[in-house]
Amino acid sequence: MSSDILEKGAILQRDKETYAIAPHIPGGIASSELLRKLADVADKYDAAAIKVTSAQRIAIVGVKEEDLDNIWNDLGMKPGAAIGICIRSIKICPGTTFCKRGKQDAVGLGLKLDEIYHGMELPGKLKIGVAGCVNSCSEPAVKDIGLLGTSKGYNLFIGGSAGIKPRIGEIVAKDLSEEEAMSTIERIISFYKENAKRKRLGEYVESIGMDKFKEEVGL
Ligand code: SF4
Repeated sequence: MSSDILEKGAILQRDKETYAIAPHIPGGIASSELLRKLADVADKYDAAAIKVTSAQRIAIVGVKEEDLDNIWNDLGMKPGAAIGICIRSIKICPGTTFCKRGKQDAVGLGLKLDEIYHGMELPGKLKIGVAGCVNSCSEPAVKDIGLLGTSKGYNLFIGGSAGIKPRIGEIVAKDLSEEEAMSTIERIISFYKENAKRKRLGEYVESIGMDKFKEEVGL
């Protein structure tokens, strides 16, 4: 039976014959040139649809297995980490770059995190959300790691999930500068990577206890 093709970033569709692919578009920030290229490729390979995803990607849906290599070649892009046990997505709101309500530069910090972490293999899948203000448009409270901007800096959530076991993350640090947020996330991910086994971050923290986790990562 057909299945997802991990190495080609191809997700089997409901018809059990065709695939969706979702190129990596950091922060979902796309140029008009990129959008034209996606549209041209979708037309060329007779895709069923172009679909904006919840991870701020633009998927080309309903393409044939035999076309996958040529599609990636034409796009000249890397697949987004939509499948696999890894850092799946860094969801970024417009922050102070574009949004009049922004308190922090969610785009700047989010793109730095994307550059370092997108696709990194870990013991469980992990999603990150970065929001520029308390409106939380990138949903940091339901991400494994979430950053929420306030006028004083970033509040850091860990352990959230909107998936099969929904949970709200816990705020483990407040008023972090961008540098402090980056270094704290680095410590959290390193510790999780080295110690957890097949558990999402929230479940892992629960299994060892929040106090121990904080102590281990210097919070
Ligand atoms: S979270 Fe705040 S800064 Fe970000 S898009 Fe929403 S309203 Fe704007």
